[in-house]
Amino acid sequence: MIGLISATAAGTAARDRLAAAWPDRTRVYEGPVGDAVRAAFAECEQLVCFLATGAVVRLLAPLLGDKTTDPGVVCVDEGGRFAVSLVGGHGGGANELAVEVGELLDAQPVVTTATDATGVAGLDTLGLPVEGAVAAVSRALLDGEPVVLDAEVSWPLPPLPVAAEGSHVIRVTDRAAQPAEHEVLLRPPSLVVGVGASKGAPVEEVLGLIEDALRNAGLSVQSVAELATVDAKSDEPGIVEAARRLGVPLVTHSAEELAAVEVPHPSAAPLAAVGTPSVAEAAALAGGGELLVPKRKSARADGHASMATCAVVRRPARGRLAVVGLGPGARDLLTPRAKAELRRASVLVGLDQYVDQIRDLLRPGTRILESGLGAEEERARTAVAEARRGQAVALIGSGDAGVYAMASPALAEASDDIDVIGVPGVTAALAAGAILGAPLGHDHVSISLSDLHTPWEVIERRVRAAAEADLVVTFYNPRSRGRDWQLPKALAILAGHREPTTPVGVVRNASRPDESSRLTTLAALDPATVDMMTVVTVGNTATRDIAGRMVTPRGYRWQEAAS
Ligand code: SAH
Repeated sequence: MIGLISATAAGTAARDRLAAAWPDRTRVYEGPVGDAVRAAFAECEQLVCFLATGAVVRLLAPLLGDKTTDPGVVCVDEGGRFAVSLVGGHGGGANELAVEVGELLDAQPVVTTATDATGVAGLDTLGLPVEGAVAAVSRALLDGEPVVLDAEVSWPLPPLPVAAEGSHVIRVTDRAAQPAEHEVLLRPPSLVVGVGASKGAPVEEVLGLIEDALRNAGLSVQSVAELATVDAKSDEPGIVEAARRLGVPLVTHSAEELAAVEVPHPSAAPLAAVGTPSVAEAAALAGGGELLVPKRKSARADGHASMATCAVVRRPARGRLAVVGLGPGARDLLTPRAKAELRRASVLVGLDQYVDQIRDLLRPGTRILESGLGAEEERARTAVAEARRGQAVALIGSGDAGVYAMASPALAEASDDIDVIGVPGVTAALAAGAILGAPLGHDHVSISLSDLHTPWEVIERRVRAAAEADLVVTFYNPRSRGRDWQLPKALAILAGHREPTTPVGVVRNASRPDESSRLTTLAALDPATVDMMTVVTVGNTATRDIAGRMVTPRGYRWQEAAS
């Protein structure tokens, strides 16, 4: 919940706008300002104070504890010009909140934490537990001093400006090492602990066994991602409580699934009890990976039979492939989500001209793999291969990356051992439609006239079908120097089913600096004015030129009802 506090009339007006925009996220604190700030600080995860920073600093000072647990606090000035991230920039999310509040109130977000100001990802914002010399290594990164990345375990980290040699080190490890003086340890969630337990096994026994196993193998409990067991044990109190105390989820698998996993130490007892020859080892290995600790049994000093087993596996890193549409060109048509994914990736793969479009957004340390026109398959393969190595990769395309673009060749290559995140973009047909008016108000199709990968007979059959079905048609890749007869041919097919006066919109370089557009007709369109930077949208039999805008009605019945 975000607590809102104001004192003046102007502040209260701004506060009410925020409260109205985010009814479920905010709570208004009335009354004397000091009491309101103290109450909100105790009860909320975040605060927005419509007060001077000085006043807020004085009120907060005695309340501040730890930057990892304190609420994030944003101050908005009396004039509503600035949203200042005051404390809890990272841990409390105040930096992000300042940006959000800024967008809503049309105020400038003010962020002063160094890592955000310079574009370097903060070591405490990587989503992984971190130990050691965080401040010293962060400062070294910011000052451009050489910092070495020593990744014992590959993990899809955001970009970090690292060097081959240097005195500061970021070590990505699941080993139980102590950080050296100028070293930061990042703990990837790479370990899966498989557990089995007989009915009524005490939590101390289960947890003790797990902690012993990790300690003896030199592994960090901070890297445990999950406990895993068989479905039949999903309610076993000792196991459930052990997962809770470790702060990790308990994942369960069916006995059949576990029975199919090959393990080094199968045995008869679990087969009789739950229907699989292995619980701990099989559950740990169910998602693949390397068995670091084979099955161990709990030791009981009192001579009773052991009640618990465990095994530890290092699971393979899952790389991350974001397929990101950049939109048609203009920066404000690039979505915030696309921007975030571009900054999240440590490897960027794309056509050189698209890379140029967003180069300024990339974080220092991003590895850029750019290539020229025509190298699509190779780009797709490279992106997938990098993700399979455990990297965070962004594969970019103009418009929407799934429309006549990189998403399909990439996903045709990809296996299920990587995560794929699709970020939609404004495709050329939509960008052009908005410029022309409302040409896509009824059923429509896109057809690419490029016969590079598709035989012309197939394209022609589709154009014919669209013509017969009276669909609005947007032609992508309409005409290039070497391909000049396809567009006239396609237009002729449509003209067989539509009046010569049917409106046709031609948009070149939509949303780019040299954007141009014109509205003409099927009979009047001169194909020579069309090139590869252009889309051509042909109306259906109901499309009209109304006040210079191309308008396709929602349907004849709709029109009748309206008139
Ligand atoms: N993925 C892209 C399309 C790639 S195919 C998208 O979703 O928009 C390339 C064709 O798209 C070009 O030949 C042109 O027909 C069209 N195109 C892409 N961007 C355009 C723009 N800004 N203005 C007009 N046409 C564009």
